[in-house]
Amino acid sequence: RGQAAHALLEGLNAEQRAAVTLPAEHALILAGAGSGKTRVLTTRIAWLLQTGQVSPGGVLAVTFTNKAAREMQARLAAMLPLNARGMWMGTFHGLANRLLRTHWKAAGLPQSFQVLDVQDQLAAIKRLCKQFNVDEERWPARQLQWFINGCKEEGLRPPDVPVKDADSRRKVELYELYEQQCQREGVADFGELMLRSYELLRDHADLRGHYRQRFAHILIDEFQDTNRLQYAWIKMLAGLPQAGAHPGEPSPERTGGTIMAVGDDDQSIYAFRGARVGNMADFVREFGVRHQIKLEQNYRSHGHILHAANLLISHNQRRLGKNLRTALGAGEPVRVLQAPSDFAEAEWVVDEIRHLVREGGLPRQQIAVLYRSNAQSRAIESQLFNAGVPYRVYGGLRFFERAEIKHALAWLRLLLNPADDTSFLRVVNFPPRGIGARTLEQLQDAARAAHAPLHQAVPALTGRARANLAAFTGLIATLRQQAQGQTLDQVVELVVEGSGLADHYRAEKDGQERLENLQELASAAQAFAQQEGFGRDAVALPPAAPQMDAGMEAGLPAEMDAQAAPASEPAAGEPPLAAFLTHAALEAGDNQAQAGQDAVQLMTVHASKGLEFEAVFITGLEEGIFPHDNAQASPDGLEEERRLMYVAITRARQRLYLSHAQVRMLHGQTRYNVRSRFLDEMPDEALKWLTPKNPGRSLAEDETFGSAGRRFGLNAGPNAGLNAGLGERAWRPMPDAARAAALPSATANTREGAPIRAGMQVFHNKFGEGAVLEIQGTADDAKARIEFKRHGVKLLALAVAQLTPL
Ligand code: ATP
Ligand code: MG
Repeated sequence: RGQAAHALLEGLNAEQRAAVTLPAEHALILAGAGSGKTRVLTTRIAWLLQTGQVSPGGVLAVTFTNKAAREMQARLAAMLPLNARGMWMGTFHGLANRLLRTHWKAAGLPQSFQVLDVQDQLAAIKRLCKQFNVDEERWPARQLQWFINGCKEEGLRPPDVPVKDADSRRKVELYELYEQQCQREGVADFGELMLRSYELLRDHADLRGHYRQRFAHILIDEFQDTNRLQYAWIKMLAGLPQAGAHPGEPSPERTGGTIMAVGDDDQSIYAFRGARVGNMADFVREFGVRHQIKLEQNYRSHGHILHAANLLISHNQRRLGKNLRTALGAGEPVRVLQAPSDFAEAEWVVDEIRHLVREGGLPRQQIAVLYRSNAQSRAIESQLFNAGVPYRVYGGLRFFERAEIKHALAWLRLLLNPADDTSFLRVVNFPPRGIGARTLEQLQDAARAAHAPLHQAVPALTGRARANLAAFTGLIATLRQQAQGQTLDQVVELVVEGSGLADHYRAEKDGQERLENLQELASAAQAFAQQEGFGRDAVALPPAAPQMDAGMEAGLPAEMDAQAAPASEPAAGEPPLAAFLTHAALEAGDNQAQAGQDAVQLMTVHASKGLEFEAVFITGLEEGIFPHDNAQASPDGLEEERRLMYVAITRARQRLYLSHAQVRMLHGQTRYNVRSRFLDEMPDEALKWLTPKNPGRSLAEDETFGSAGRRFGLNAGPNAGLNAGLGERAWRPMPDAARAAALPSATANTREGAPIRAGMQVFHNKFGEGAVLEIQGTADDAKARIEFKRHGVKLLALAVAQLTPL
């Protein structure tokens, strides 16, 4: 037994070993990324078990994600012959849920209570607001949701919430009504799981005593991102007398197990959700922590990568301060690419991925593409999909599976096929138009009786129900009329606006991201039309709704109809809108089947915490995107963005690629972004620019400019890549853009090389024909304001716009 236990320590460094073998006392391990914190935590559990200090039932381990819990379980199973399943190992929410399932009665919940996810919760709040005639303008449901969750995270029930004025009194009232509704319906939201289980222990001395005795060892990963309630929950389990509960006197109650918390202040990235880095200091103080261990050896990343991370994070002022070294050698430099567009960026990423897989022999699942916000994934997903590279999107739905996108697609489907009842039901009351469940029941009954699709059964109803439904079907008819003769992306925009979806999300305090995704859908449609060669073709909708006459005889349930058509191939000859809807269905559905397959991993930086990959791409390194616009206002916000970047960089083991695009179609808008300041906060010697770092300089100048010029020279030639090693291949479009940038006038990058002047007629790949209104700026900064016939006025950078004079 002793031998087996000592085998666990093999390969650990002295500090790690010290941490694993600490006596049963509270401890904090504060250490940087990749220093083995999670490994120490896992090994500690194995050590405690192996040396007989605890049985599996005596361990409570908290991880940040379910995935991390599964991984920890797998690692433990590999280390030990015991059944690791008996252990309480999971996320805070998962563990809270387990407590409540076990003690549902004491917790005052029905045995089969249901958990509400964030979307369900919002829907529940909306329903409540409607029932109590809450003025949506004044108390938007989103805001109430945020308020309620915030209260719960602070451990506050309605009577505990401080009331300042009439407004906050109303909010507290609604909080209380919401609680009653949840209780009545037997549901619990995420915050409720935590708070309810906390109260369960607080209010039941017997249970509290039981668990305090039971969990001799409590281990918490990613401690820097715990919020107030989570820390209070831990304290309840570990038996620290509540502050103020017994002032001055020691608690007569037995204290609980010992806590080992591991964390990294530099990786605190959930402040916006209530995480408190201060929990670390509180923990040390309140528990009188005597063991604080630092780990400084990084085992994950090669030198250049770590060097880049260290220097970047040193720009933050608020740090506890620590450094990391690696013994892995410098490794490959960090590759940096400036792409002319987001499309080109995605192309490069996918190209590079294929190369890494083919020549580098990397399994796809060892490659991650990271981005700051979900909307950015679309361009990359689309390229991966086209290239037939299996991929998997984590943390957040795939683009076409998001609720707002599904709503918009449902509206689009109804334009093509009013008999698509699934889509009908999805949006008949979304955005809300006063059509209730009762009306829909009547409608469904009538449709069933007539064997007709829902929209045909509308005349069978009476009164207000009929009027409301007729308004809906009328709107669809109007939209389809308006859609005639428009291009695909115009139709998407038309529907997003005309259906009221855009206004609906505009009115929501937190509808911004959904609104952006809807705009992104128009970008997706445009890109799709481009790719499929539809160009600016008008969508062809059947002149009148064919089902109006044919529906009855066809006798097919609408859903079958809707599904039978698209089949698996995006058939040639499908008109643009139908083809696009097929594409959306395929892209959403296909990858699900590939979930178990060796696939490239796509995720936001937030979702990548704690993970590691052989190769990592961080895309969209542009001001306003990463660091995000929202964060720029405050120094705290910027520091959190920088920590986020630090997390992203330190996911990489061998290879790190950073990219930014000069032009980006995001949220339906063309944006010209400056490269992220983070790129300039990393050490030059660790980076390798695949495109010139400062393309503003002329070629000659660049050449005399030392390393930047050499870098450029090395990669600019058309064949540079053939001789270069993995990842050193030149990026095709670059020489063009670079050449253009070096030219002194606004003649840059026209196809024919002719100068672009105001008054000229030009053709653009995406936007088609237009008239140049004016030229702004000079040389490589020159931009043209162009009025496109079909797309209105755009401001395009001449260096990248690829205009052809007509
Ligand atoms: P993060 O802050 O990103 O969560 P971490 O500090 O939790 O990182 P781990 O994930 O535990 O770090 O470890 C990083 C990598 O280093 C893992 O692959 C782990 O197996 C490896 N590692 C840790 N310690 C050692 C060691 N002593 N010898 C060899 N490899 C190690
Ligand atoms: Mg970790």
